[in-house]
Amino acid sequence: MNSASIDVLISEVGPRDGLQSIKSIMPTEEKNAWIDALYKAGVREIEVGSFVPAKLLPQMADTAEVVRHAKTLPGLTVMALVPNLRGAQAAIEAGVHKLTIPVSASAAHSLANVRKTREEMIEEVQKIAQYRKEFAPEVKVEAGIATAFGCTIQGLVPEDEVIWMAEQAINAGADESGLSDTTGYANPAQIKRLFRRLKAAIGSKAGAAHLHNTRGLGLANCLAAYEEGVTSFDSSMGGLGGCPYAPGASGNVVTEDLVFMFEAMGIKTGINLDLLFEARKPLQAGVPSEIIYGMVPEAGAPKGFMPATQWGG
Ligand code: ZN
Repeated sequence: MNSASIDVLISEVGPRDGLQSIKSIMPTEEKNAWIDALYKAGVREIEVGSFVPAKLLPQMADTAEVVRHAKTLPGLTVMALVPNLRGAQAAIEAGVHKLTIPVSASAAHSLANVRKTREEMIEEVQKIAQYRKEFAPEVKVEAGIATAFGCTIQGLVPEDEVIWMAEQAINAGADESGLSDTTGYANPAQIKRLFRRLKAAIGSKAGAAHLHNTRGLGLANCLAAYEEGVTSFDSSMGGLGGCPYAPGASGNVVTEDLVFMFEAMGIKTGINLDLLFEARKPLQAGVPSEIIYGMVPEAGAPKGFMPATQWGG
C-alpha cells in the first residue's frame, strides 16, 4: 500500500481520546500491541497519547514510552495531544512527528478542560509554535478547535467565535486547524456550514474533522465534511472516547464503520477492513471490562464487498 494513493486519511485517536476517557488503564505492552495491529491494518496516523500530568490522567502516564515504540513503525505519523508548552517539550523530546493542541471555542469548556481562558490558550499555541520553530522545525503543529459545534457546559457556541479561534490559532503559528465535535452535538448541515467557513477563513490550513457519535450522527457528519472537501478524519476503534471535562460526551466515530463507509463508496483509506477487525482483539484484551462498539464489526462486511483500496497487488 502506498500512502500517496489514498483519498482520505483516517487518523486513529483511540489510544488518546479513547483510553483517556475510560476508567481502565491499559498497560503499556497492550497499547503497543494494539498500535502494531492498527499499523498492520494500514493505519498510518495514530494519536498515541497525551502529555499531561499523570495525576490528572494516569491512563496517559506512559505516553513517552508508547511514542518511542510507535516510532519504530516505518511511515507511521506519531501524534500526541499537548495542552501546554511543557507538554509540547516532553512530546518533542519523546520524538513525536506531530502535536495536536486542544483549543476550545467555548469559553466555559476552555476553563474546565485546560484551566485557561481562550486568549491564554492562543498564547500557549504561540509559545508552542515558537518552541517548535527553534528546536524541532520538522514537527507539525495542529490546533483542534474543541466544542466547535456546541458545549455541554455553556450550550450554544457562536459560529463566528469558532472561526475566529481557528484564525487566531493559525496566526499564532499552528500549521493547521481542524474542528472537533467534542460533545457530539453536530448535525450534517452545521458541519457543512462550519467547514465551508473554515476553508474560506484559513484555506489549505483547514485541518481534520474530529467527530463523535454520541447522538448517532457521527458517520452522517463525516460524510457531510467529506462533501465539503475534508480529507482527514479522526476516529476511534470501537468508538471509545469522549472528553473527561465535557460531562456526558462519549463515543468517537467508530474507525471500523468509517473505513467501511468510505471503502464501500469507492474512496480509498489504505486500510484493510479484515485486519482492522483483527485489531479489536488486542484492544479488548487490554481493556477487558470496557464495551467495544461498532456496527460493521458486529454484522460483518456484506457478501461480495469490494473495498476501494486494493491490497497485496
Ligand atoms: Zn474527541
